[in-house]
Amino acid sequence: MPYMQESDWATALADATRHFIDLLQIDTTNPPGNERPAAQHIANVLAQHNIESVILESAPRRANLITRLKGDGSLPPLLMMGHMDVVMAEPDKWSHPPFSGHKRADGMIFGRGATDMKQTVAAALATLLLIKQNFHDNKLLPKRDVIFLALADEETGGTYGAQWMAEHHADLFSDAEFALNEGGGMATDINGVRYMTIQAGEKGTSRFWLRARGTPGHGSIPMPNAGIVRLADAVHRLGSTWLPIHMTATTRRFLQVLADTQTGESAAFFQQLLESADPDSLMAQATFDPTMQRTLNAILRNTAMPTILRSGGQLNVIPDVAEAGIDGRLLPGQSREDFEREIRAVLGPGLADLEIEWATPEPAIALESELEGPLLDAISEVMAVHAPGTHLLPNLVTGGTDAKAIAPLGIKVFGFSPHPADDLHIFERAHAHDERLHEKSFHYCVRTTYAIVERVITKDV
Ligand SMILES: [Zn+2]
Repeated sequence: MPYMQESDWATALADATRHFIDLLQIDTTNPPGNERPAAQHIANVLAQHNIESVILESAPRRANLITRLKGDGSLPPLLMMGHMDVVMAEPDKWSHPPFSGHKRADGMIFGRGATDMKQTVAAALATLLLIKQNFHDNKLLPKRDVIFLALADEETGGTYGAQWMAEHHADLFSDAEFALNEGGGMATDINGVRYMTIQAGEKGTSRFWLRARGTPGHGSIPMPNAGIVRLADAVHRLGSTWLPIHMTATTRRFLQVLADTQTGESAAFFQQLLESADPDSLMAQATFDPTMQRTLNAILRNTAMPTILRSGGQLNVIPDVAEAGIDGRLLPGQSREDFEREIRAVLGPGLADLEIEWATPEPAIALESELEGPLLDAISEVMAVHAPGTHLLPNLVTGGTDAKAIAPLGIKVFGFSPHPADDLHIFERAHAHDERLHEKSFHYCVRTTYAIVERVITKDV
């Protein structure tokens, strides 16, 4: 398919890198967000290429941008989505200032947002420009519209970004069949076998306060059943006990890929785990490296991790109340009632009087998309060429992204922003000091993103 000549890539990639660095130089730290200048910059670049876009402000300086390249309407649109905001940075802990977009002599590009996720936003922008150049400027129409949504406020939950857009402007993009988002496309190595994650689901959030009460008293006369002591017991139990395993469609596919592609004992273990009537005992006996163990446990279970402790104010006073903040995460298909039952079972009858107060009236929903269809086919075909020998690994993300606001509109959201198979630590660099991405990795992201989009908008189903 001669839409893109190999000789066109040099200019395209140089332009894309410039736009990526420009975006890194705009401080969109959230809070407060201030995405307006980033949205304006993207709008200007699009305008230079005769692409109209609209900026929608959810609050002063909180901006979302949307644009659409028309297709012939024979198939529903593809949505590319990404957030422009970033988390805070401590400049004195960086080798180069976090909003410098500094490119080192070896090609390493530094900046807050370099891996989460201005690289993906810049790759989507480059893809739009190339689709315009290769199709519309040649009087060709793709089969699908391509919609691009650059969002505010992902890092603090999306109130001014994805949620606001879904609530107020869904009519501008809800006709999309599927979306490409962050959350996958990262290479990982398991026992020497290379995988590329593709996010097919997200856990939900159900955080709560756990509270123990007792009679206050003098610190000189110990009270073994004081609230503070019983809360400590509860925190220890919750923090050191895994809740029961529940297999979801995504984790089944995840384990099946591992069973099919690992070798020896490792392959046998994953196959057993899939088939076992008692996966909890199997996992308890497993001997993985600690990181793999924690990750696997977190995607197989609801989790309740203590993150805040509050009690007491004076050394000689036994406090009447003690409370712990617990970060609760729910698997797809799990209700808050299921979750509370599991927590109560860990606490046991001796701690049955502890109060659970949910931090929000309703849990944030968990998501799971069917991993099939034209977008997945395009991803598989492109990655077979660009990442040979690498297996796509369907992944359930333990955190949350903007997908939570967009998927309920009926759009299948896949987290897939591809990075090279030898760039293994993309995810660890997100939110860290010296967040950075090599120019080569960025170029790879642009080329593969474009290839996936080109394929999906030109192919019949
Ligand atoms: Zn992100």
